[in-house]
Amino acid sequence: MKAVVVGAGIAGLVTARQLGSAGWDVEVLEKSAAPRPDGYMMDFFGPGVEASERIGLYPRLAAVAYHVEAAEYVDATGHPTSSLDYDQFARLAGGKVLSLLRPDMERAALAALDDVASARVRVRYGAPVSRVWSEDDEVRVAVDGSPDVMFAADVLVGADGIHSGVRAQVFGPEVEYLRPLGMRAAAFIVTEPLLNARFRNRFVLTDSIDRMAGLYSLRSDEVAAFMVYREAAGATGRLSSGSPRERLRREFAGLGNAVDRLLELCPEHPYDDVVAQIVMPGWQRGRTVLVGDACGAVSLLAGQGGSLAIAGAALLGDVLGPVTALEEISSALAEFERRWRPVVEEAQAAGRRAASSFLPANRTQRLLRRWIIRTSHLPGIDRLIARQIVGRVAK
Ligand SMILES: Cc1cc2nc3c(=O)[nH]c(=O)nc-3n(C[C@H](O)[C@H](O)[C@H](O)COP(=O)(O)OP(=O)(O)OC[C@H]3O[C@@H](n4cnc5c(N)ncnc54)[C@H](O)[C@@H]3O)c2cc1C
Repeated sequence: MKAVVVGAGIAGLVTARQLGSAGWDVEVLEKSAAPRPDGYMMDFFGPGVEASERIGLYPRLAAVAYHVEAAEYVDATGHPTSSLDYDQFARLAGGKVLSLLRPDMERAALAALDDVASARVRVRYGAPVSRVWSEDDEVRVAVDGSPDVMFAADVLVGADGIHSGVRAQVFGPEVEYLRPLGMRAAAFIVTEPLLNARFRNRFVLTDSIDRMAGLYSLRSDEVAAFMVYREAAGATGRLSSGSPRERLRREFAGLGNAVDRLLELCPEHPYDDVVAQIVMPGWQRGRTVLVGDACGAVSLLAGQGGSLAIAGAALLGDVLGPVTALEEISSALAEFERRWRPVVEEAQAAGRRAASSFLPANRTQRLLRRWIIRTSHLPGIDRLIARQIVGRVAK
């Protein structure tokens, strides 16, 4: 059997690995010229931990994880206002938590192809998919700018992220499925030895209203920054003018010298996108199926997109891998959706709940957040936070 996977993000690479190890021939088409270096720190917990242990990916992830001791909120002078201990966060999240840089996670998934399936899986970078269609009992895929490059397969997997082009072509335009949560997020990595030395082993977050900047020191002299902000016109509405960098400089002025320094070094076009979920009535149509953010983005507010991308892809591999005849494909894809949808919907509900408190809208809400964090060790409050974080009370 043969599959084409569009997108070599975490979901695409894990799907390819699992199908390859089940004996499928897999072509992965990725528009970036090489693995994307840009990214942010991610908390990796929940279903992806269990799935990555089961498929043997976990040791590769653990090997590149960062050691985080605490998430610390600070005021504009850099003084801590509240802090959440990471062992406690791990307990609230139900067990193991790894702190991973997005590109490290993707590189681990790429390297893991060698464990099981390298001969059967080909990853082509610099291959932006422009058109997908069905013909003669096959799915077909054309690559932009290469009229002669066309791929045919039994199954097409759209793992091309929240702005999926496969989804737009097979299921309908993005506007039908994208649910903005009222804010934008930006992320970038800079080289800054002084800040790096100052903030080792902890997430530092500004305790600010309507916006939040966070930073984390990486190995070498780098610092990973991420910024979340509410938009006056709504996240899909009119953007304030200028390049993304100019916009960030305007939005995040006055949050202290560490943030000022990050903004000085910010690249002109950092990652900067709407914070949103993808909500769809169906994830498979004919021989096409979506996985990861393409069908079920939960948003950074749920803090589980990467985890769910891995777990969903592993499940898709479990269900589709054993298929040996064309007639079995549609029931396998339906089975994948039947089993995976409840997990995604639960995480999406947690993400929507978090949207109301993630960025305090006034001083009272900020005081409430400080109080919740300071009392987070108390029974009852810990369950409230766990519900915010993972969608259900950690057992
Ligand atoms: C700021 C921020 C913080 C986050 N924090 C966390 C966290 O703490 N924990 C967590 O678990 N998750 C977090 N997430 C979410 C997580 O990053 C995503 O859910 C996850 O990366 C989704 O993986 P994916 O493989 O589905 O999609 P993506 O990573 O988006 O990969 C899609 C791939 O498809 C490629 N592609 C797109 N179009 C085409 C095309 N036409 N042709 C070929 N290739 C194409 C893209 O280049 C990309 O490589 C965060 C997200 C953001 C933005």
